[in-house]
Amino acid sequence: MRISLAADVNCQQTLAKPLKLEGHELIPSACVGISFFPEDAADAQGLMQAAETALYRAKERGPSSIELFTPLLAERLQRKFEVASDLRRAIQNDELTLNYQPQVDSRTKALLGVEALVRWQHPVNGLMSPATFIPLAEELGLIGLLGDWVLEKAMAQMARWRDQGHPVPQVAVNIAPQQLVPGFADHIRDLLARHQLPASMLELEITESALERDNSIIALLQALRDMGVLLAIDDFGTGYSSLAHIKHLPVTCLKIDKVFIDDLPDDAYDVAIIRTVLALGRSLGFRVLAEGVESEEQFLFLAEQGIDTILGYYFGKPMEAGVLEQWIDNRTKG
Ligand code: C2E
Ligand code: MG
Ligand code: MG
Repeated sequence: MRISLAADVNCQQTLAKPLKLEGHELIPSACVGISFFPEDAADAQGLMQAAETALYRAKERGPSSIELFTPLLAERLQRKFEVASDLRRAIQNDELTLNYQPQVDSRTKALLGVEALVRWQHPVNGLMSPATFIPLAEELGLIGLLGDWVLEKAMAQMARWRDQGHPVPQVAVNIAPQQLVPGFADHIRDLLARHQLPASMLELEITESALERDNSIIALLQALRDMGVLLAIDDFGTGYSSLAHIKHLPVTCLKIDKVFIDDLPDDAYDVAIIRTVLALGRSLGFRVLAEGVESEEQFLFLAEQGIDTILGYYFGKPMEAGVLEQWIDNRTKG
């Protein structure tokens, strides 16, 4: 065992020598999955399969990882593929639902819009959080399918609210980085046209990690913005946005992540971060929203600071479309 690991580490060191490619320096790395004969499999095909399983785990752990096969790994991978196949079926059979969470004007408390958040009632595992299955969908290549489902459902709901006279001015939809491919802007244009919706009713939320990719993203975002679609950077502050980059982005809103809201107004660092992001947003002409506002104290503090929009349990949790309609009616009556 020692010999084969040493060989792999050697091989990694050889690979890690910098390469020049079109003027860029690249440092290759390799993940390694290892299986043993006869413990892990009795034939070549079985050994390769076991090594592949170990390799899959090594890739999950990050660049240059080495992983040995264990039966537990095989079981975990099997479970993951089962959930993935359940998810594919759930999307195709319309077993997912969208919930909508109110976004409220901090000054007037008027409803400015809602954020669409996907939910999945798994037949065995129960209600699954998108924080669990969205990364899985991204990893297993299902996010395009899921993202299209969400966009179609959200727009159909927007059209229904318009037809029924429910005052929901805007709907924000989360977009995974993998959805931002050439043709995405045309896809959005087609959907808006089919549902006869003005582009200004739709806000697309992207994360800072999507912006790290390359400059083609900026052209794509600009095409969406030229159509009139609103663009928000979600979970702002948790990624690595370069300020030089941000000033070129055609975004309209910064959504400050909940981690900076949780300890307000007591945490001096969070207070400083809120004030800084607000000043940045103001000077670049972006609307600034605070995510995850739960208490009156947090709300009053943020409103006093001049945050434009509030999203959080303090005003309303994510709810099904019918419950949201009730929520709106109750507010207008009250
Ligand atoms: P996000 O886009 O940042 O959405 C905000 C999350 O914070 C939601 O969690 C929401 O329910 C939660 N939240 C809002 N206010 C409060 C609060 O006051 N307290 C607490 N404790 N939580 C609050 P959720 O619905 O579980 O979604 C988690 C994440 O999953 C989302 O974070 C988003 O990144 C992703 N996601 C959800 N739906 C979609 C989707 O349709 N497509 C994609 N690509 N991602 C989605
Ligand atoms: Mg979001
Ligand atoms: Mg967020």
